Order: sequence, then C-alpha cells, then structure tokens
Amino acid sequence: MEQQLIDWLVAKLAADPRLDVPNGDDAAVLRPPAGRRTVFCTDMLCEGVHFPSAPDYDPRAVGHKAIAVNLSDLAAMASRPEAAVVSVSLPRSGGQSVGEALLEGMLAIATRFDVALVGGDTTSWDGPLAVNVALLGSVAAGRLWRRDGCRVGDVVLVTGAVGGSLAGRHLAVEPRVNEARLIADTVAVHGAIDISDGLALDLSRMMQASGCGAEVDLAAVPIHADAVTAAKLDPSGGTPLMRALGDGEDFELLISLAADDAERLLGAIATGRLAGWPGTPLTAIGRVVADRGLVAVSEDGRRTPLPPSGYQHAFT
Ligand SMILES: [Mg+2]
Repeated sequence: MEQQLIDWLVAKLAADPRLDVPNGDDAAVLRPPAGRRTVFCTDMLCEGVHFPSAPDYDPRAVGHKAIAVNLSDLAAMASRPEAAVVSVSLPRSGGQSVGEALLEGMLAIATRFDVALVGGDTTSWDGPLAVNVALLGSVAAGRLWRRDGCRVGDVVLVTGAVGGSLAGRHLAVEPRVNEARLIADTVAVHGAIDISDGLALDLSRMMQASGCGAEVDLAAVPIHADAVTAAKLDPSGGTPLMRALGDGEDFELLISLAADDAERLLGAIATGRLAGWPGTPLTAIGRVVADRGLVAVSEDGRRTPLPPSGYQHAFT
C-alpha cells in the first residue's frame, strides 16, 4: 500500500536543517540558502529503456541511477545538491518490495551527496516501472557553469573514461559533483555539459550553444574498458573509439576553459596539490575553434569531420 511505503520511508529519513516543515506534509518547505541561486532539474527512467525489463532489473540499482543522473546534471552546472522529490509508478504485484529496494538505493546515494529526500508520489499500475526524480540544487551567484560560454582557444577536458556503458556500468553512475566543485574552486570554467547521450553529440551541443566548434584529438579520448568489451560483444556497433565517441550514458563532464587554466588544473591534479580530488582521470581531448562543427584529428594529423553521433529518444 502507498501509505505503508511512505511510512517506511519517512521512518528512515533523518531530520534535515534545510527543511522548514518536517517530512510528511502536503508539500515540502525549504529554507533557501542565502546568496545562492536555485538550480532545478528532472530526469525520468523507464523500464526497458534506461534499465532492463522485469525480472532482470535490480530496483536498488535503479534507485541509485535515478538520483545519480540528476546529480550529473547539477554537476554540469557546478551546483551543490540540496533536495529531491521522487515519483514512482510501481508494479501492482510485488510493488512494496520493489519500492523499498528502489528507495534504499536512492537513500544511499542521497546520503553520500547530502541530498534531502523531501517528497514525492507513489502510484501502482499493471504497466512497467517508471521513476522520476526532480532535484534541487544551489550555486553561489556568478559561479554557475553553463554550456554556452566556450571561447575560441579553450581546451576541452573530459572526466573519467567513456564508451560501452551499457556493457557494464550504466546503472552504477558515479556523478562528478565533487570533481565539479573542486574544479570550480580552482579555475574559471567557460563552458560545461555532462555526457548523457554521447561525447560527440553532447560536445556538439555545447559548441552549438557557444557559437563555435571543436577539434577532438582522437588518440587522447579516454576509452573505457567497457567500450572494448562492448566492441567485442557486438562488432557491428563499431570500434572501441567509435563507442567512446557515441555510446552515451557515460555521465562524465566535458568542460572548456582557457589553456593556461587547463594546464594549471591538470598540473595540480597530477602532483596531488588539489586537496580532496577523488582520483578521477581528467584528460584534455581537444580545443575550441571558430569554425562550427566538430573535427576529428587523428594521430598523424589528418583532419576529418566528426559526426555528432549519440543517442536521441525517438518519437513522431
Ligand atoms: Mg545534462
């Protein structure tokens, strides 16, 4: 029953100083942090699209991912997570245990990233599992990252490694919230976006928003081991490099910043001077240029147009 699940959740929630009214009322009431902007995003996960169909999904992992993908969007705006509301459509049969496991997965990552679960809605039906999370964050005025601020001459950096997510880690999303905060505290970032649909596609979106283009050094692209696995499992899907450029669901950050700042940042990380850096690789993969579109630069210097490959939800 809906009330049973809500009672189960509320009993698990600790009091949060950001809440002006305790959990359980008709709506959540938050104390806005002084001097900060509110940042707000939402993302929905559907059975069979964002996670496997029953009985092959682990509801705990789905709950983790539902929060994590939203955290990734806040990271791309250099924002601090604050609070989440969660809506779930549970299966009528077995819904209580699915709901509890789902919320346990959410609570674990919410606790790690200091997100208060402040409300939501529970329904049940005979359809597939669907989960929606809306996440509120905050950022000091003037410290926000945007995707439209890249400048010609900037260096483009990527966190982590990309490609083949579906072959392994796509549910175990590790949002780059702490990396974003440390980078924002160290250098001036001109543009940022998270990779949800594919490195090439999301990079092209950032360049389009900024009114410029980018050259990508193919040899520099950090290819995830999952991309190698995926290419072996399904050679028709392209080489590991093609998968790194186009697979998506990486939830890494692409950031664009002045070349000297990039050098300073990479130097600080390489020498361990960036206190608290979680050990995530950070790699320069190219540069921002005036000509629109993306260009792939191969190791021998050959330049070819780079199609903005990636995943787009199709509908008519
Ligand atoms: Mg995004």
